[in-house]
Amino acid sequence: SNPMPTHAEDLLSSVLTIYEGRLRNSGIEVVSDLRAKVPVVCFEGDVRQILNNLVSNAIDAMPHGGKLLLRSHEAPHPPTGRRGVVITVADTGSGISASHLPTIFDPFFTTKDINGTGLGLWVSKEIVDRHKGTLRVRSRVREDASGTVFRLFLPHS
Ligand code: ADP
Ligand code: MG
Repeated sequence: SNPMPTHAEDLLSSVLTIYEGRLRNSGIEVVSDLRAKVPVVCFEGDVRQILNNLVSNAIDAMPHGGKLLLRSHEAPHPPTGRRGVVITVADTGSGISASHLPTIFDPFFTTKDINGTGLGLWVSKEIVDRHKGTLRVRSRVREDASGTVFRLFLPHS
């Protein structure tokens, strides 16, 4: 099968639909900047799997509410100049400690007592690598301003 062109905002809204209940129960406000129609030329199921995992991790990090920020834009990838889509999933949750940060993409690394498999980011990274994209994370744990930003770049395939 071939990669089907779709739009980042359509994928993100359909992923949000799945988590509507959990977002409401945790009191999470969704702030999205998805106005422009940004094409994603990639295998839809693959992108969906990555977004599912990033959004569910963000929700897990905000059991007492917060903000989930979603953004997408079309962009050239600086190192290669190839065009693609950048999707940012950010949260104002617990943050990831500096000691955990290097291990979050390792298989079976989880800090969750229940329902944690530690496979979500590992699988996501594998998919991203297969499409020659990148998945970067920035995070901080601070009393007044904790949170995490995942930035996904996928070149148009
Ligand atoms: P799982 O969700 O099953 O624990 P993942 O591979 O998806 O496995 O994530 C691994 C770990 O990375 C999580 O257990 C958590 O410690 C950390 N993590 C990932 N995303 C976030 C986030 N948005 N905020 C805080 N911690 C995160
Ligand atoms: Mg996960």
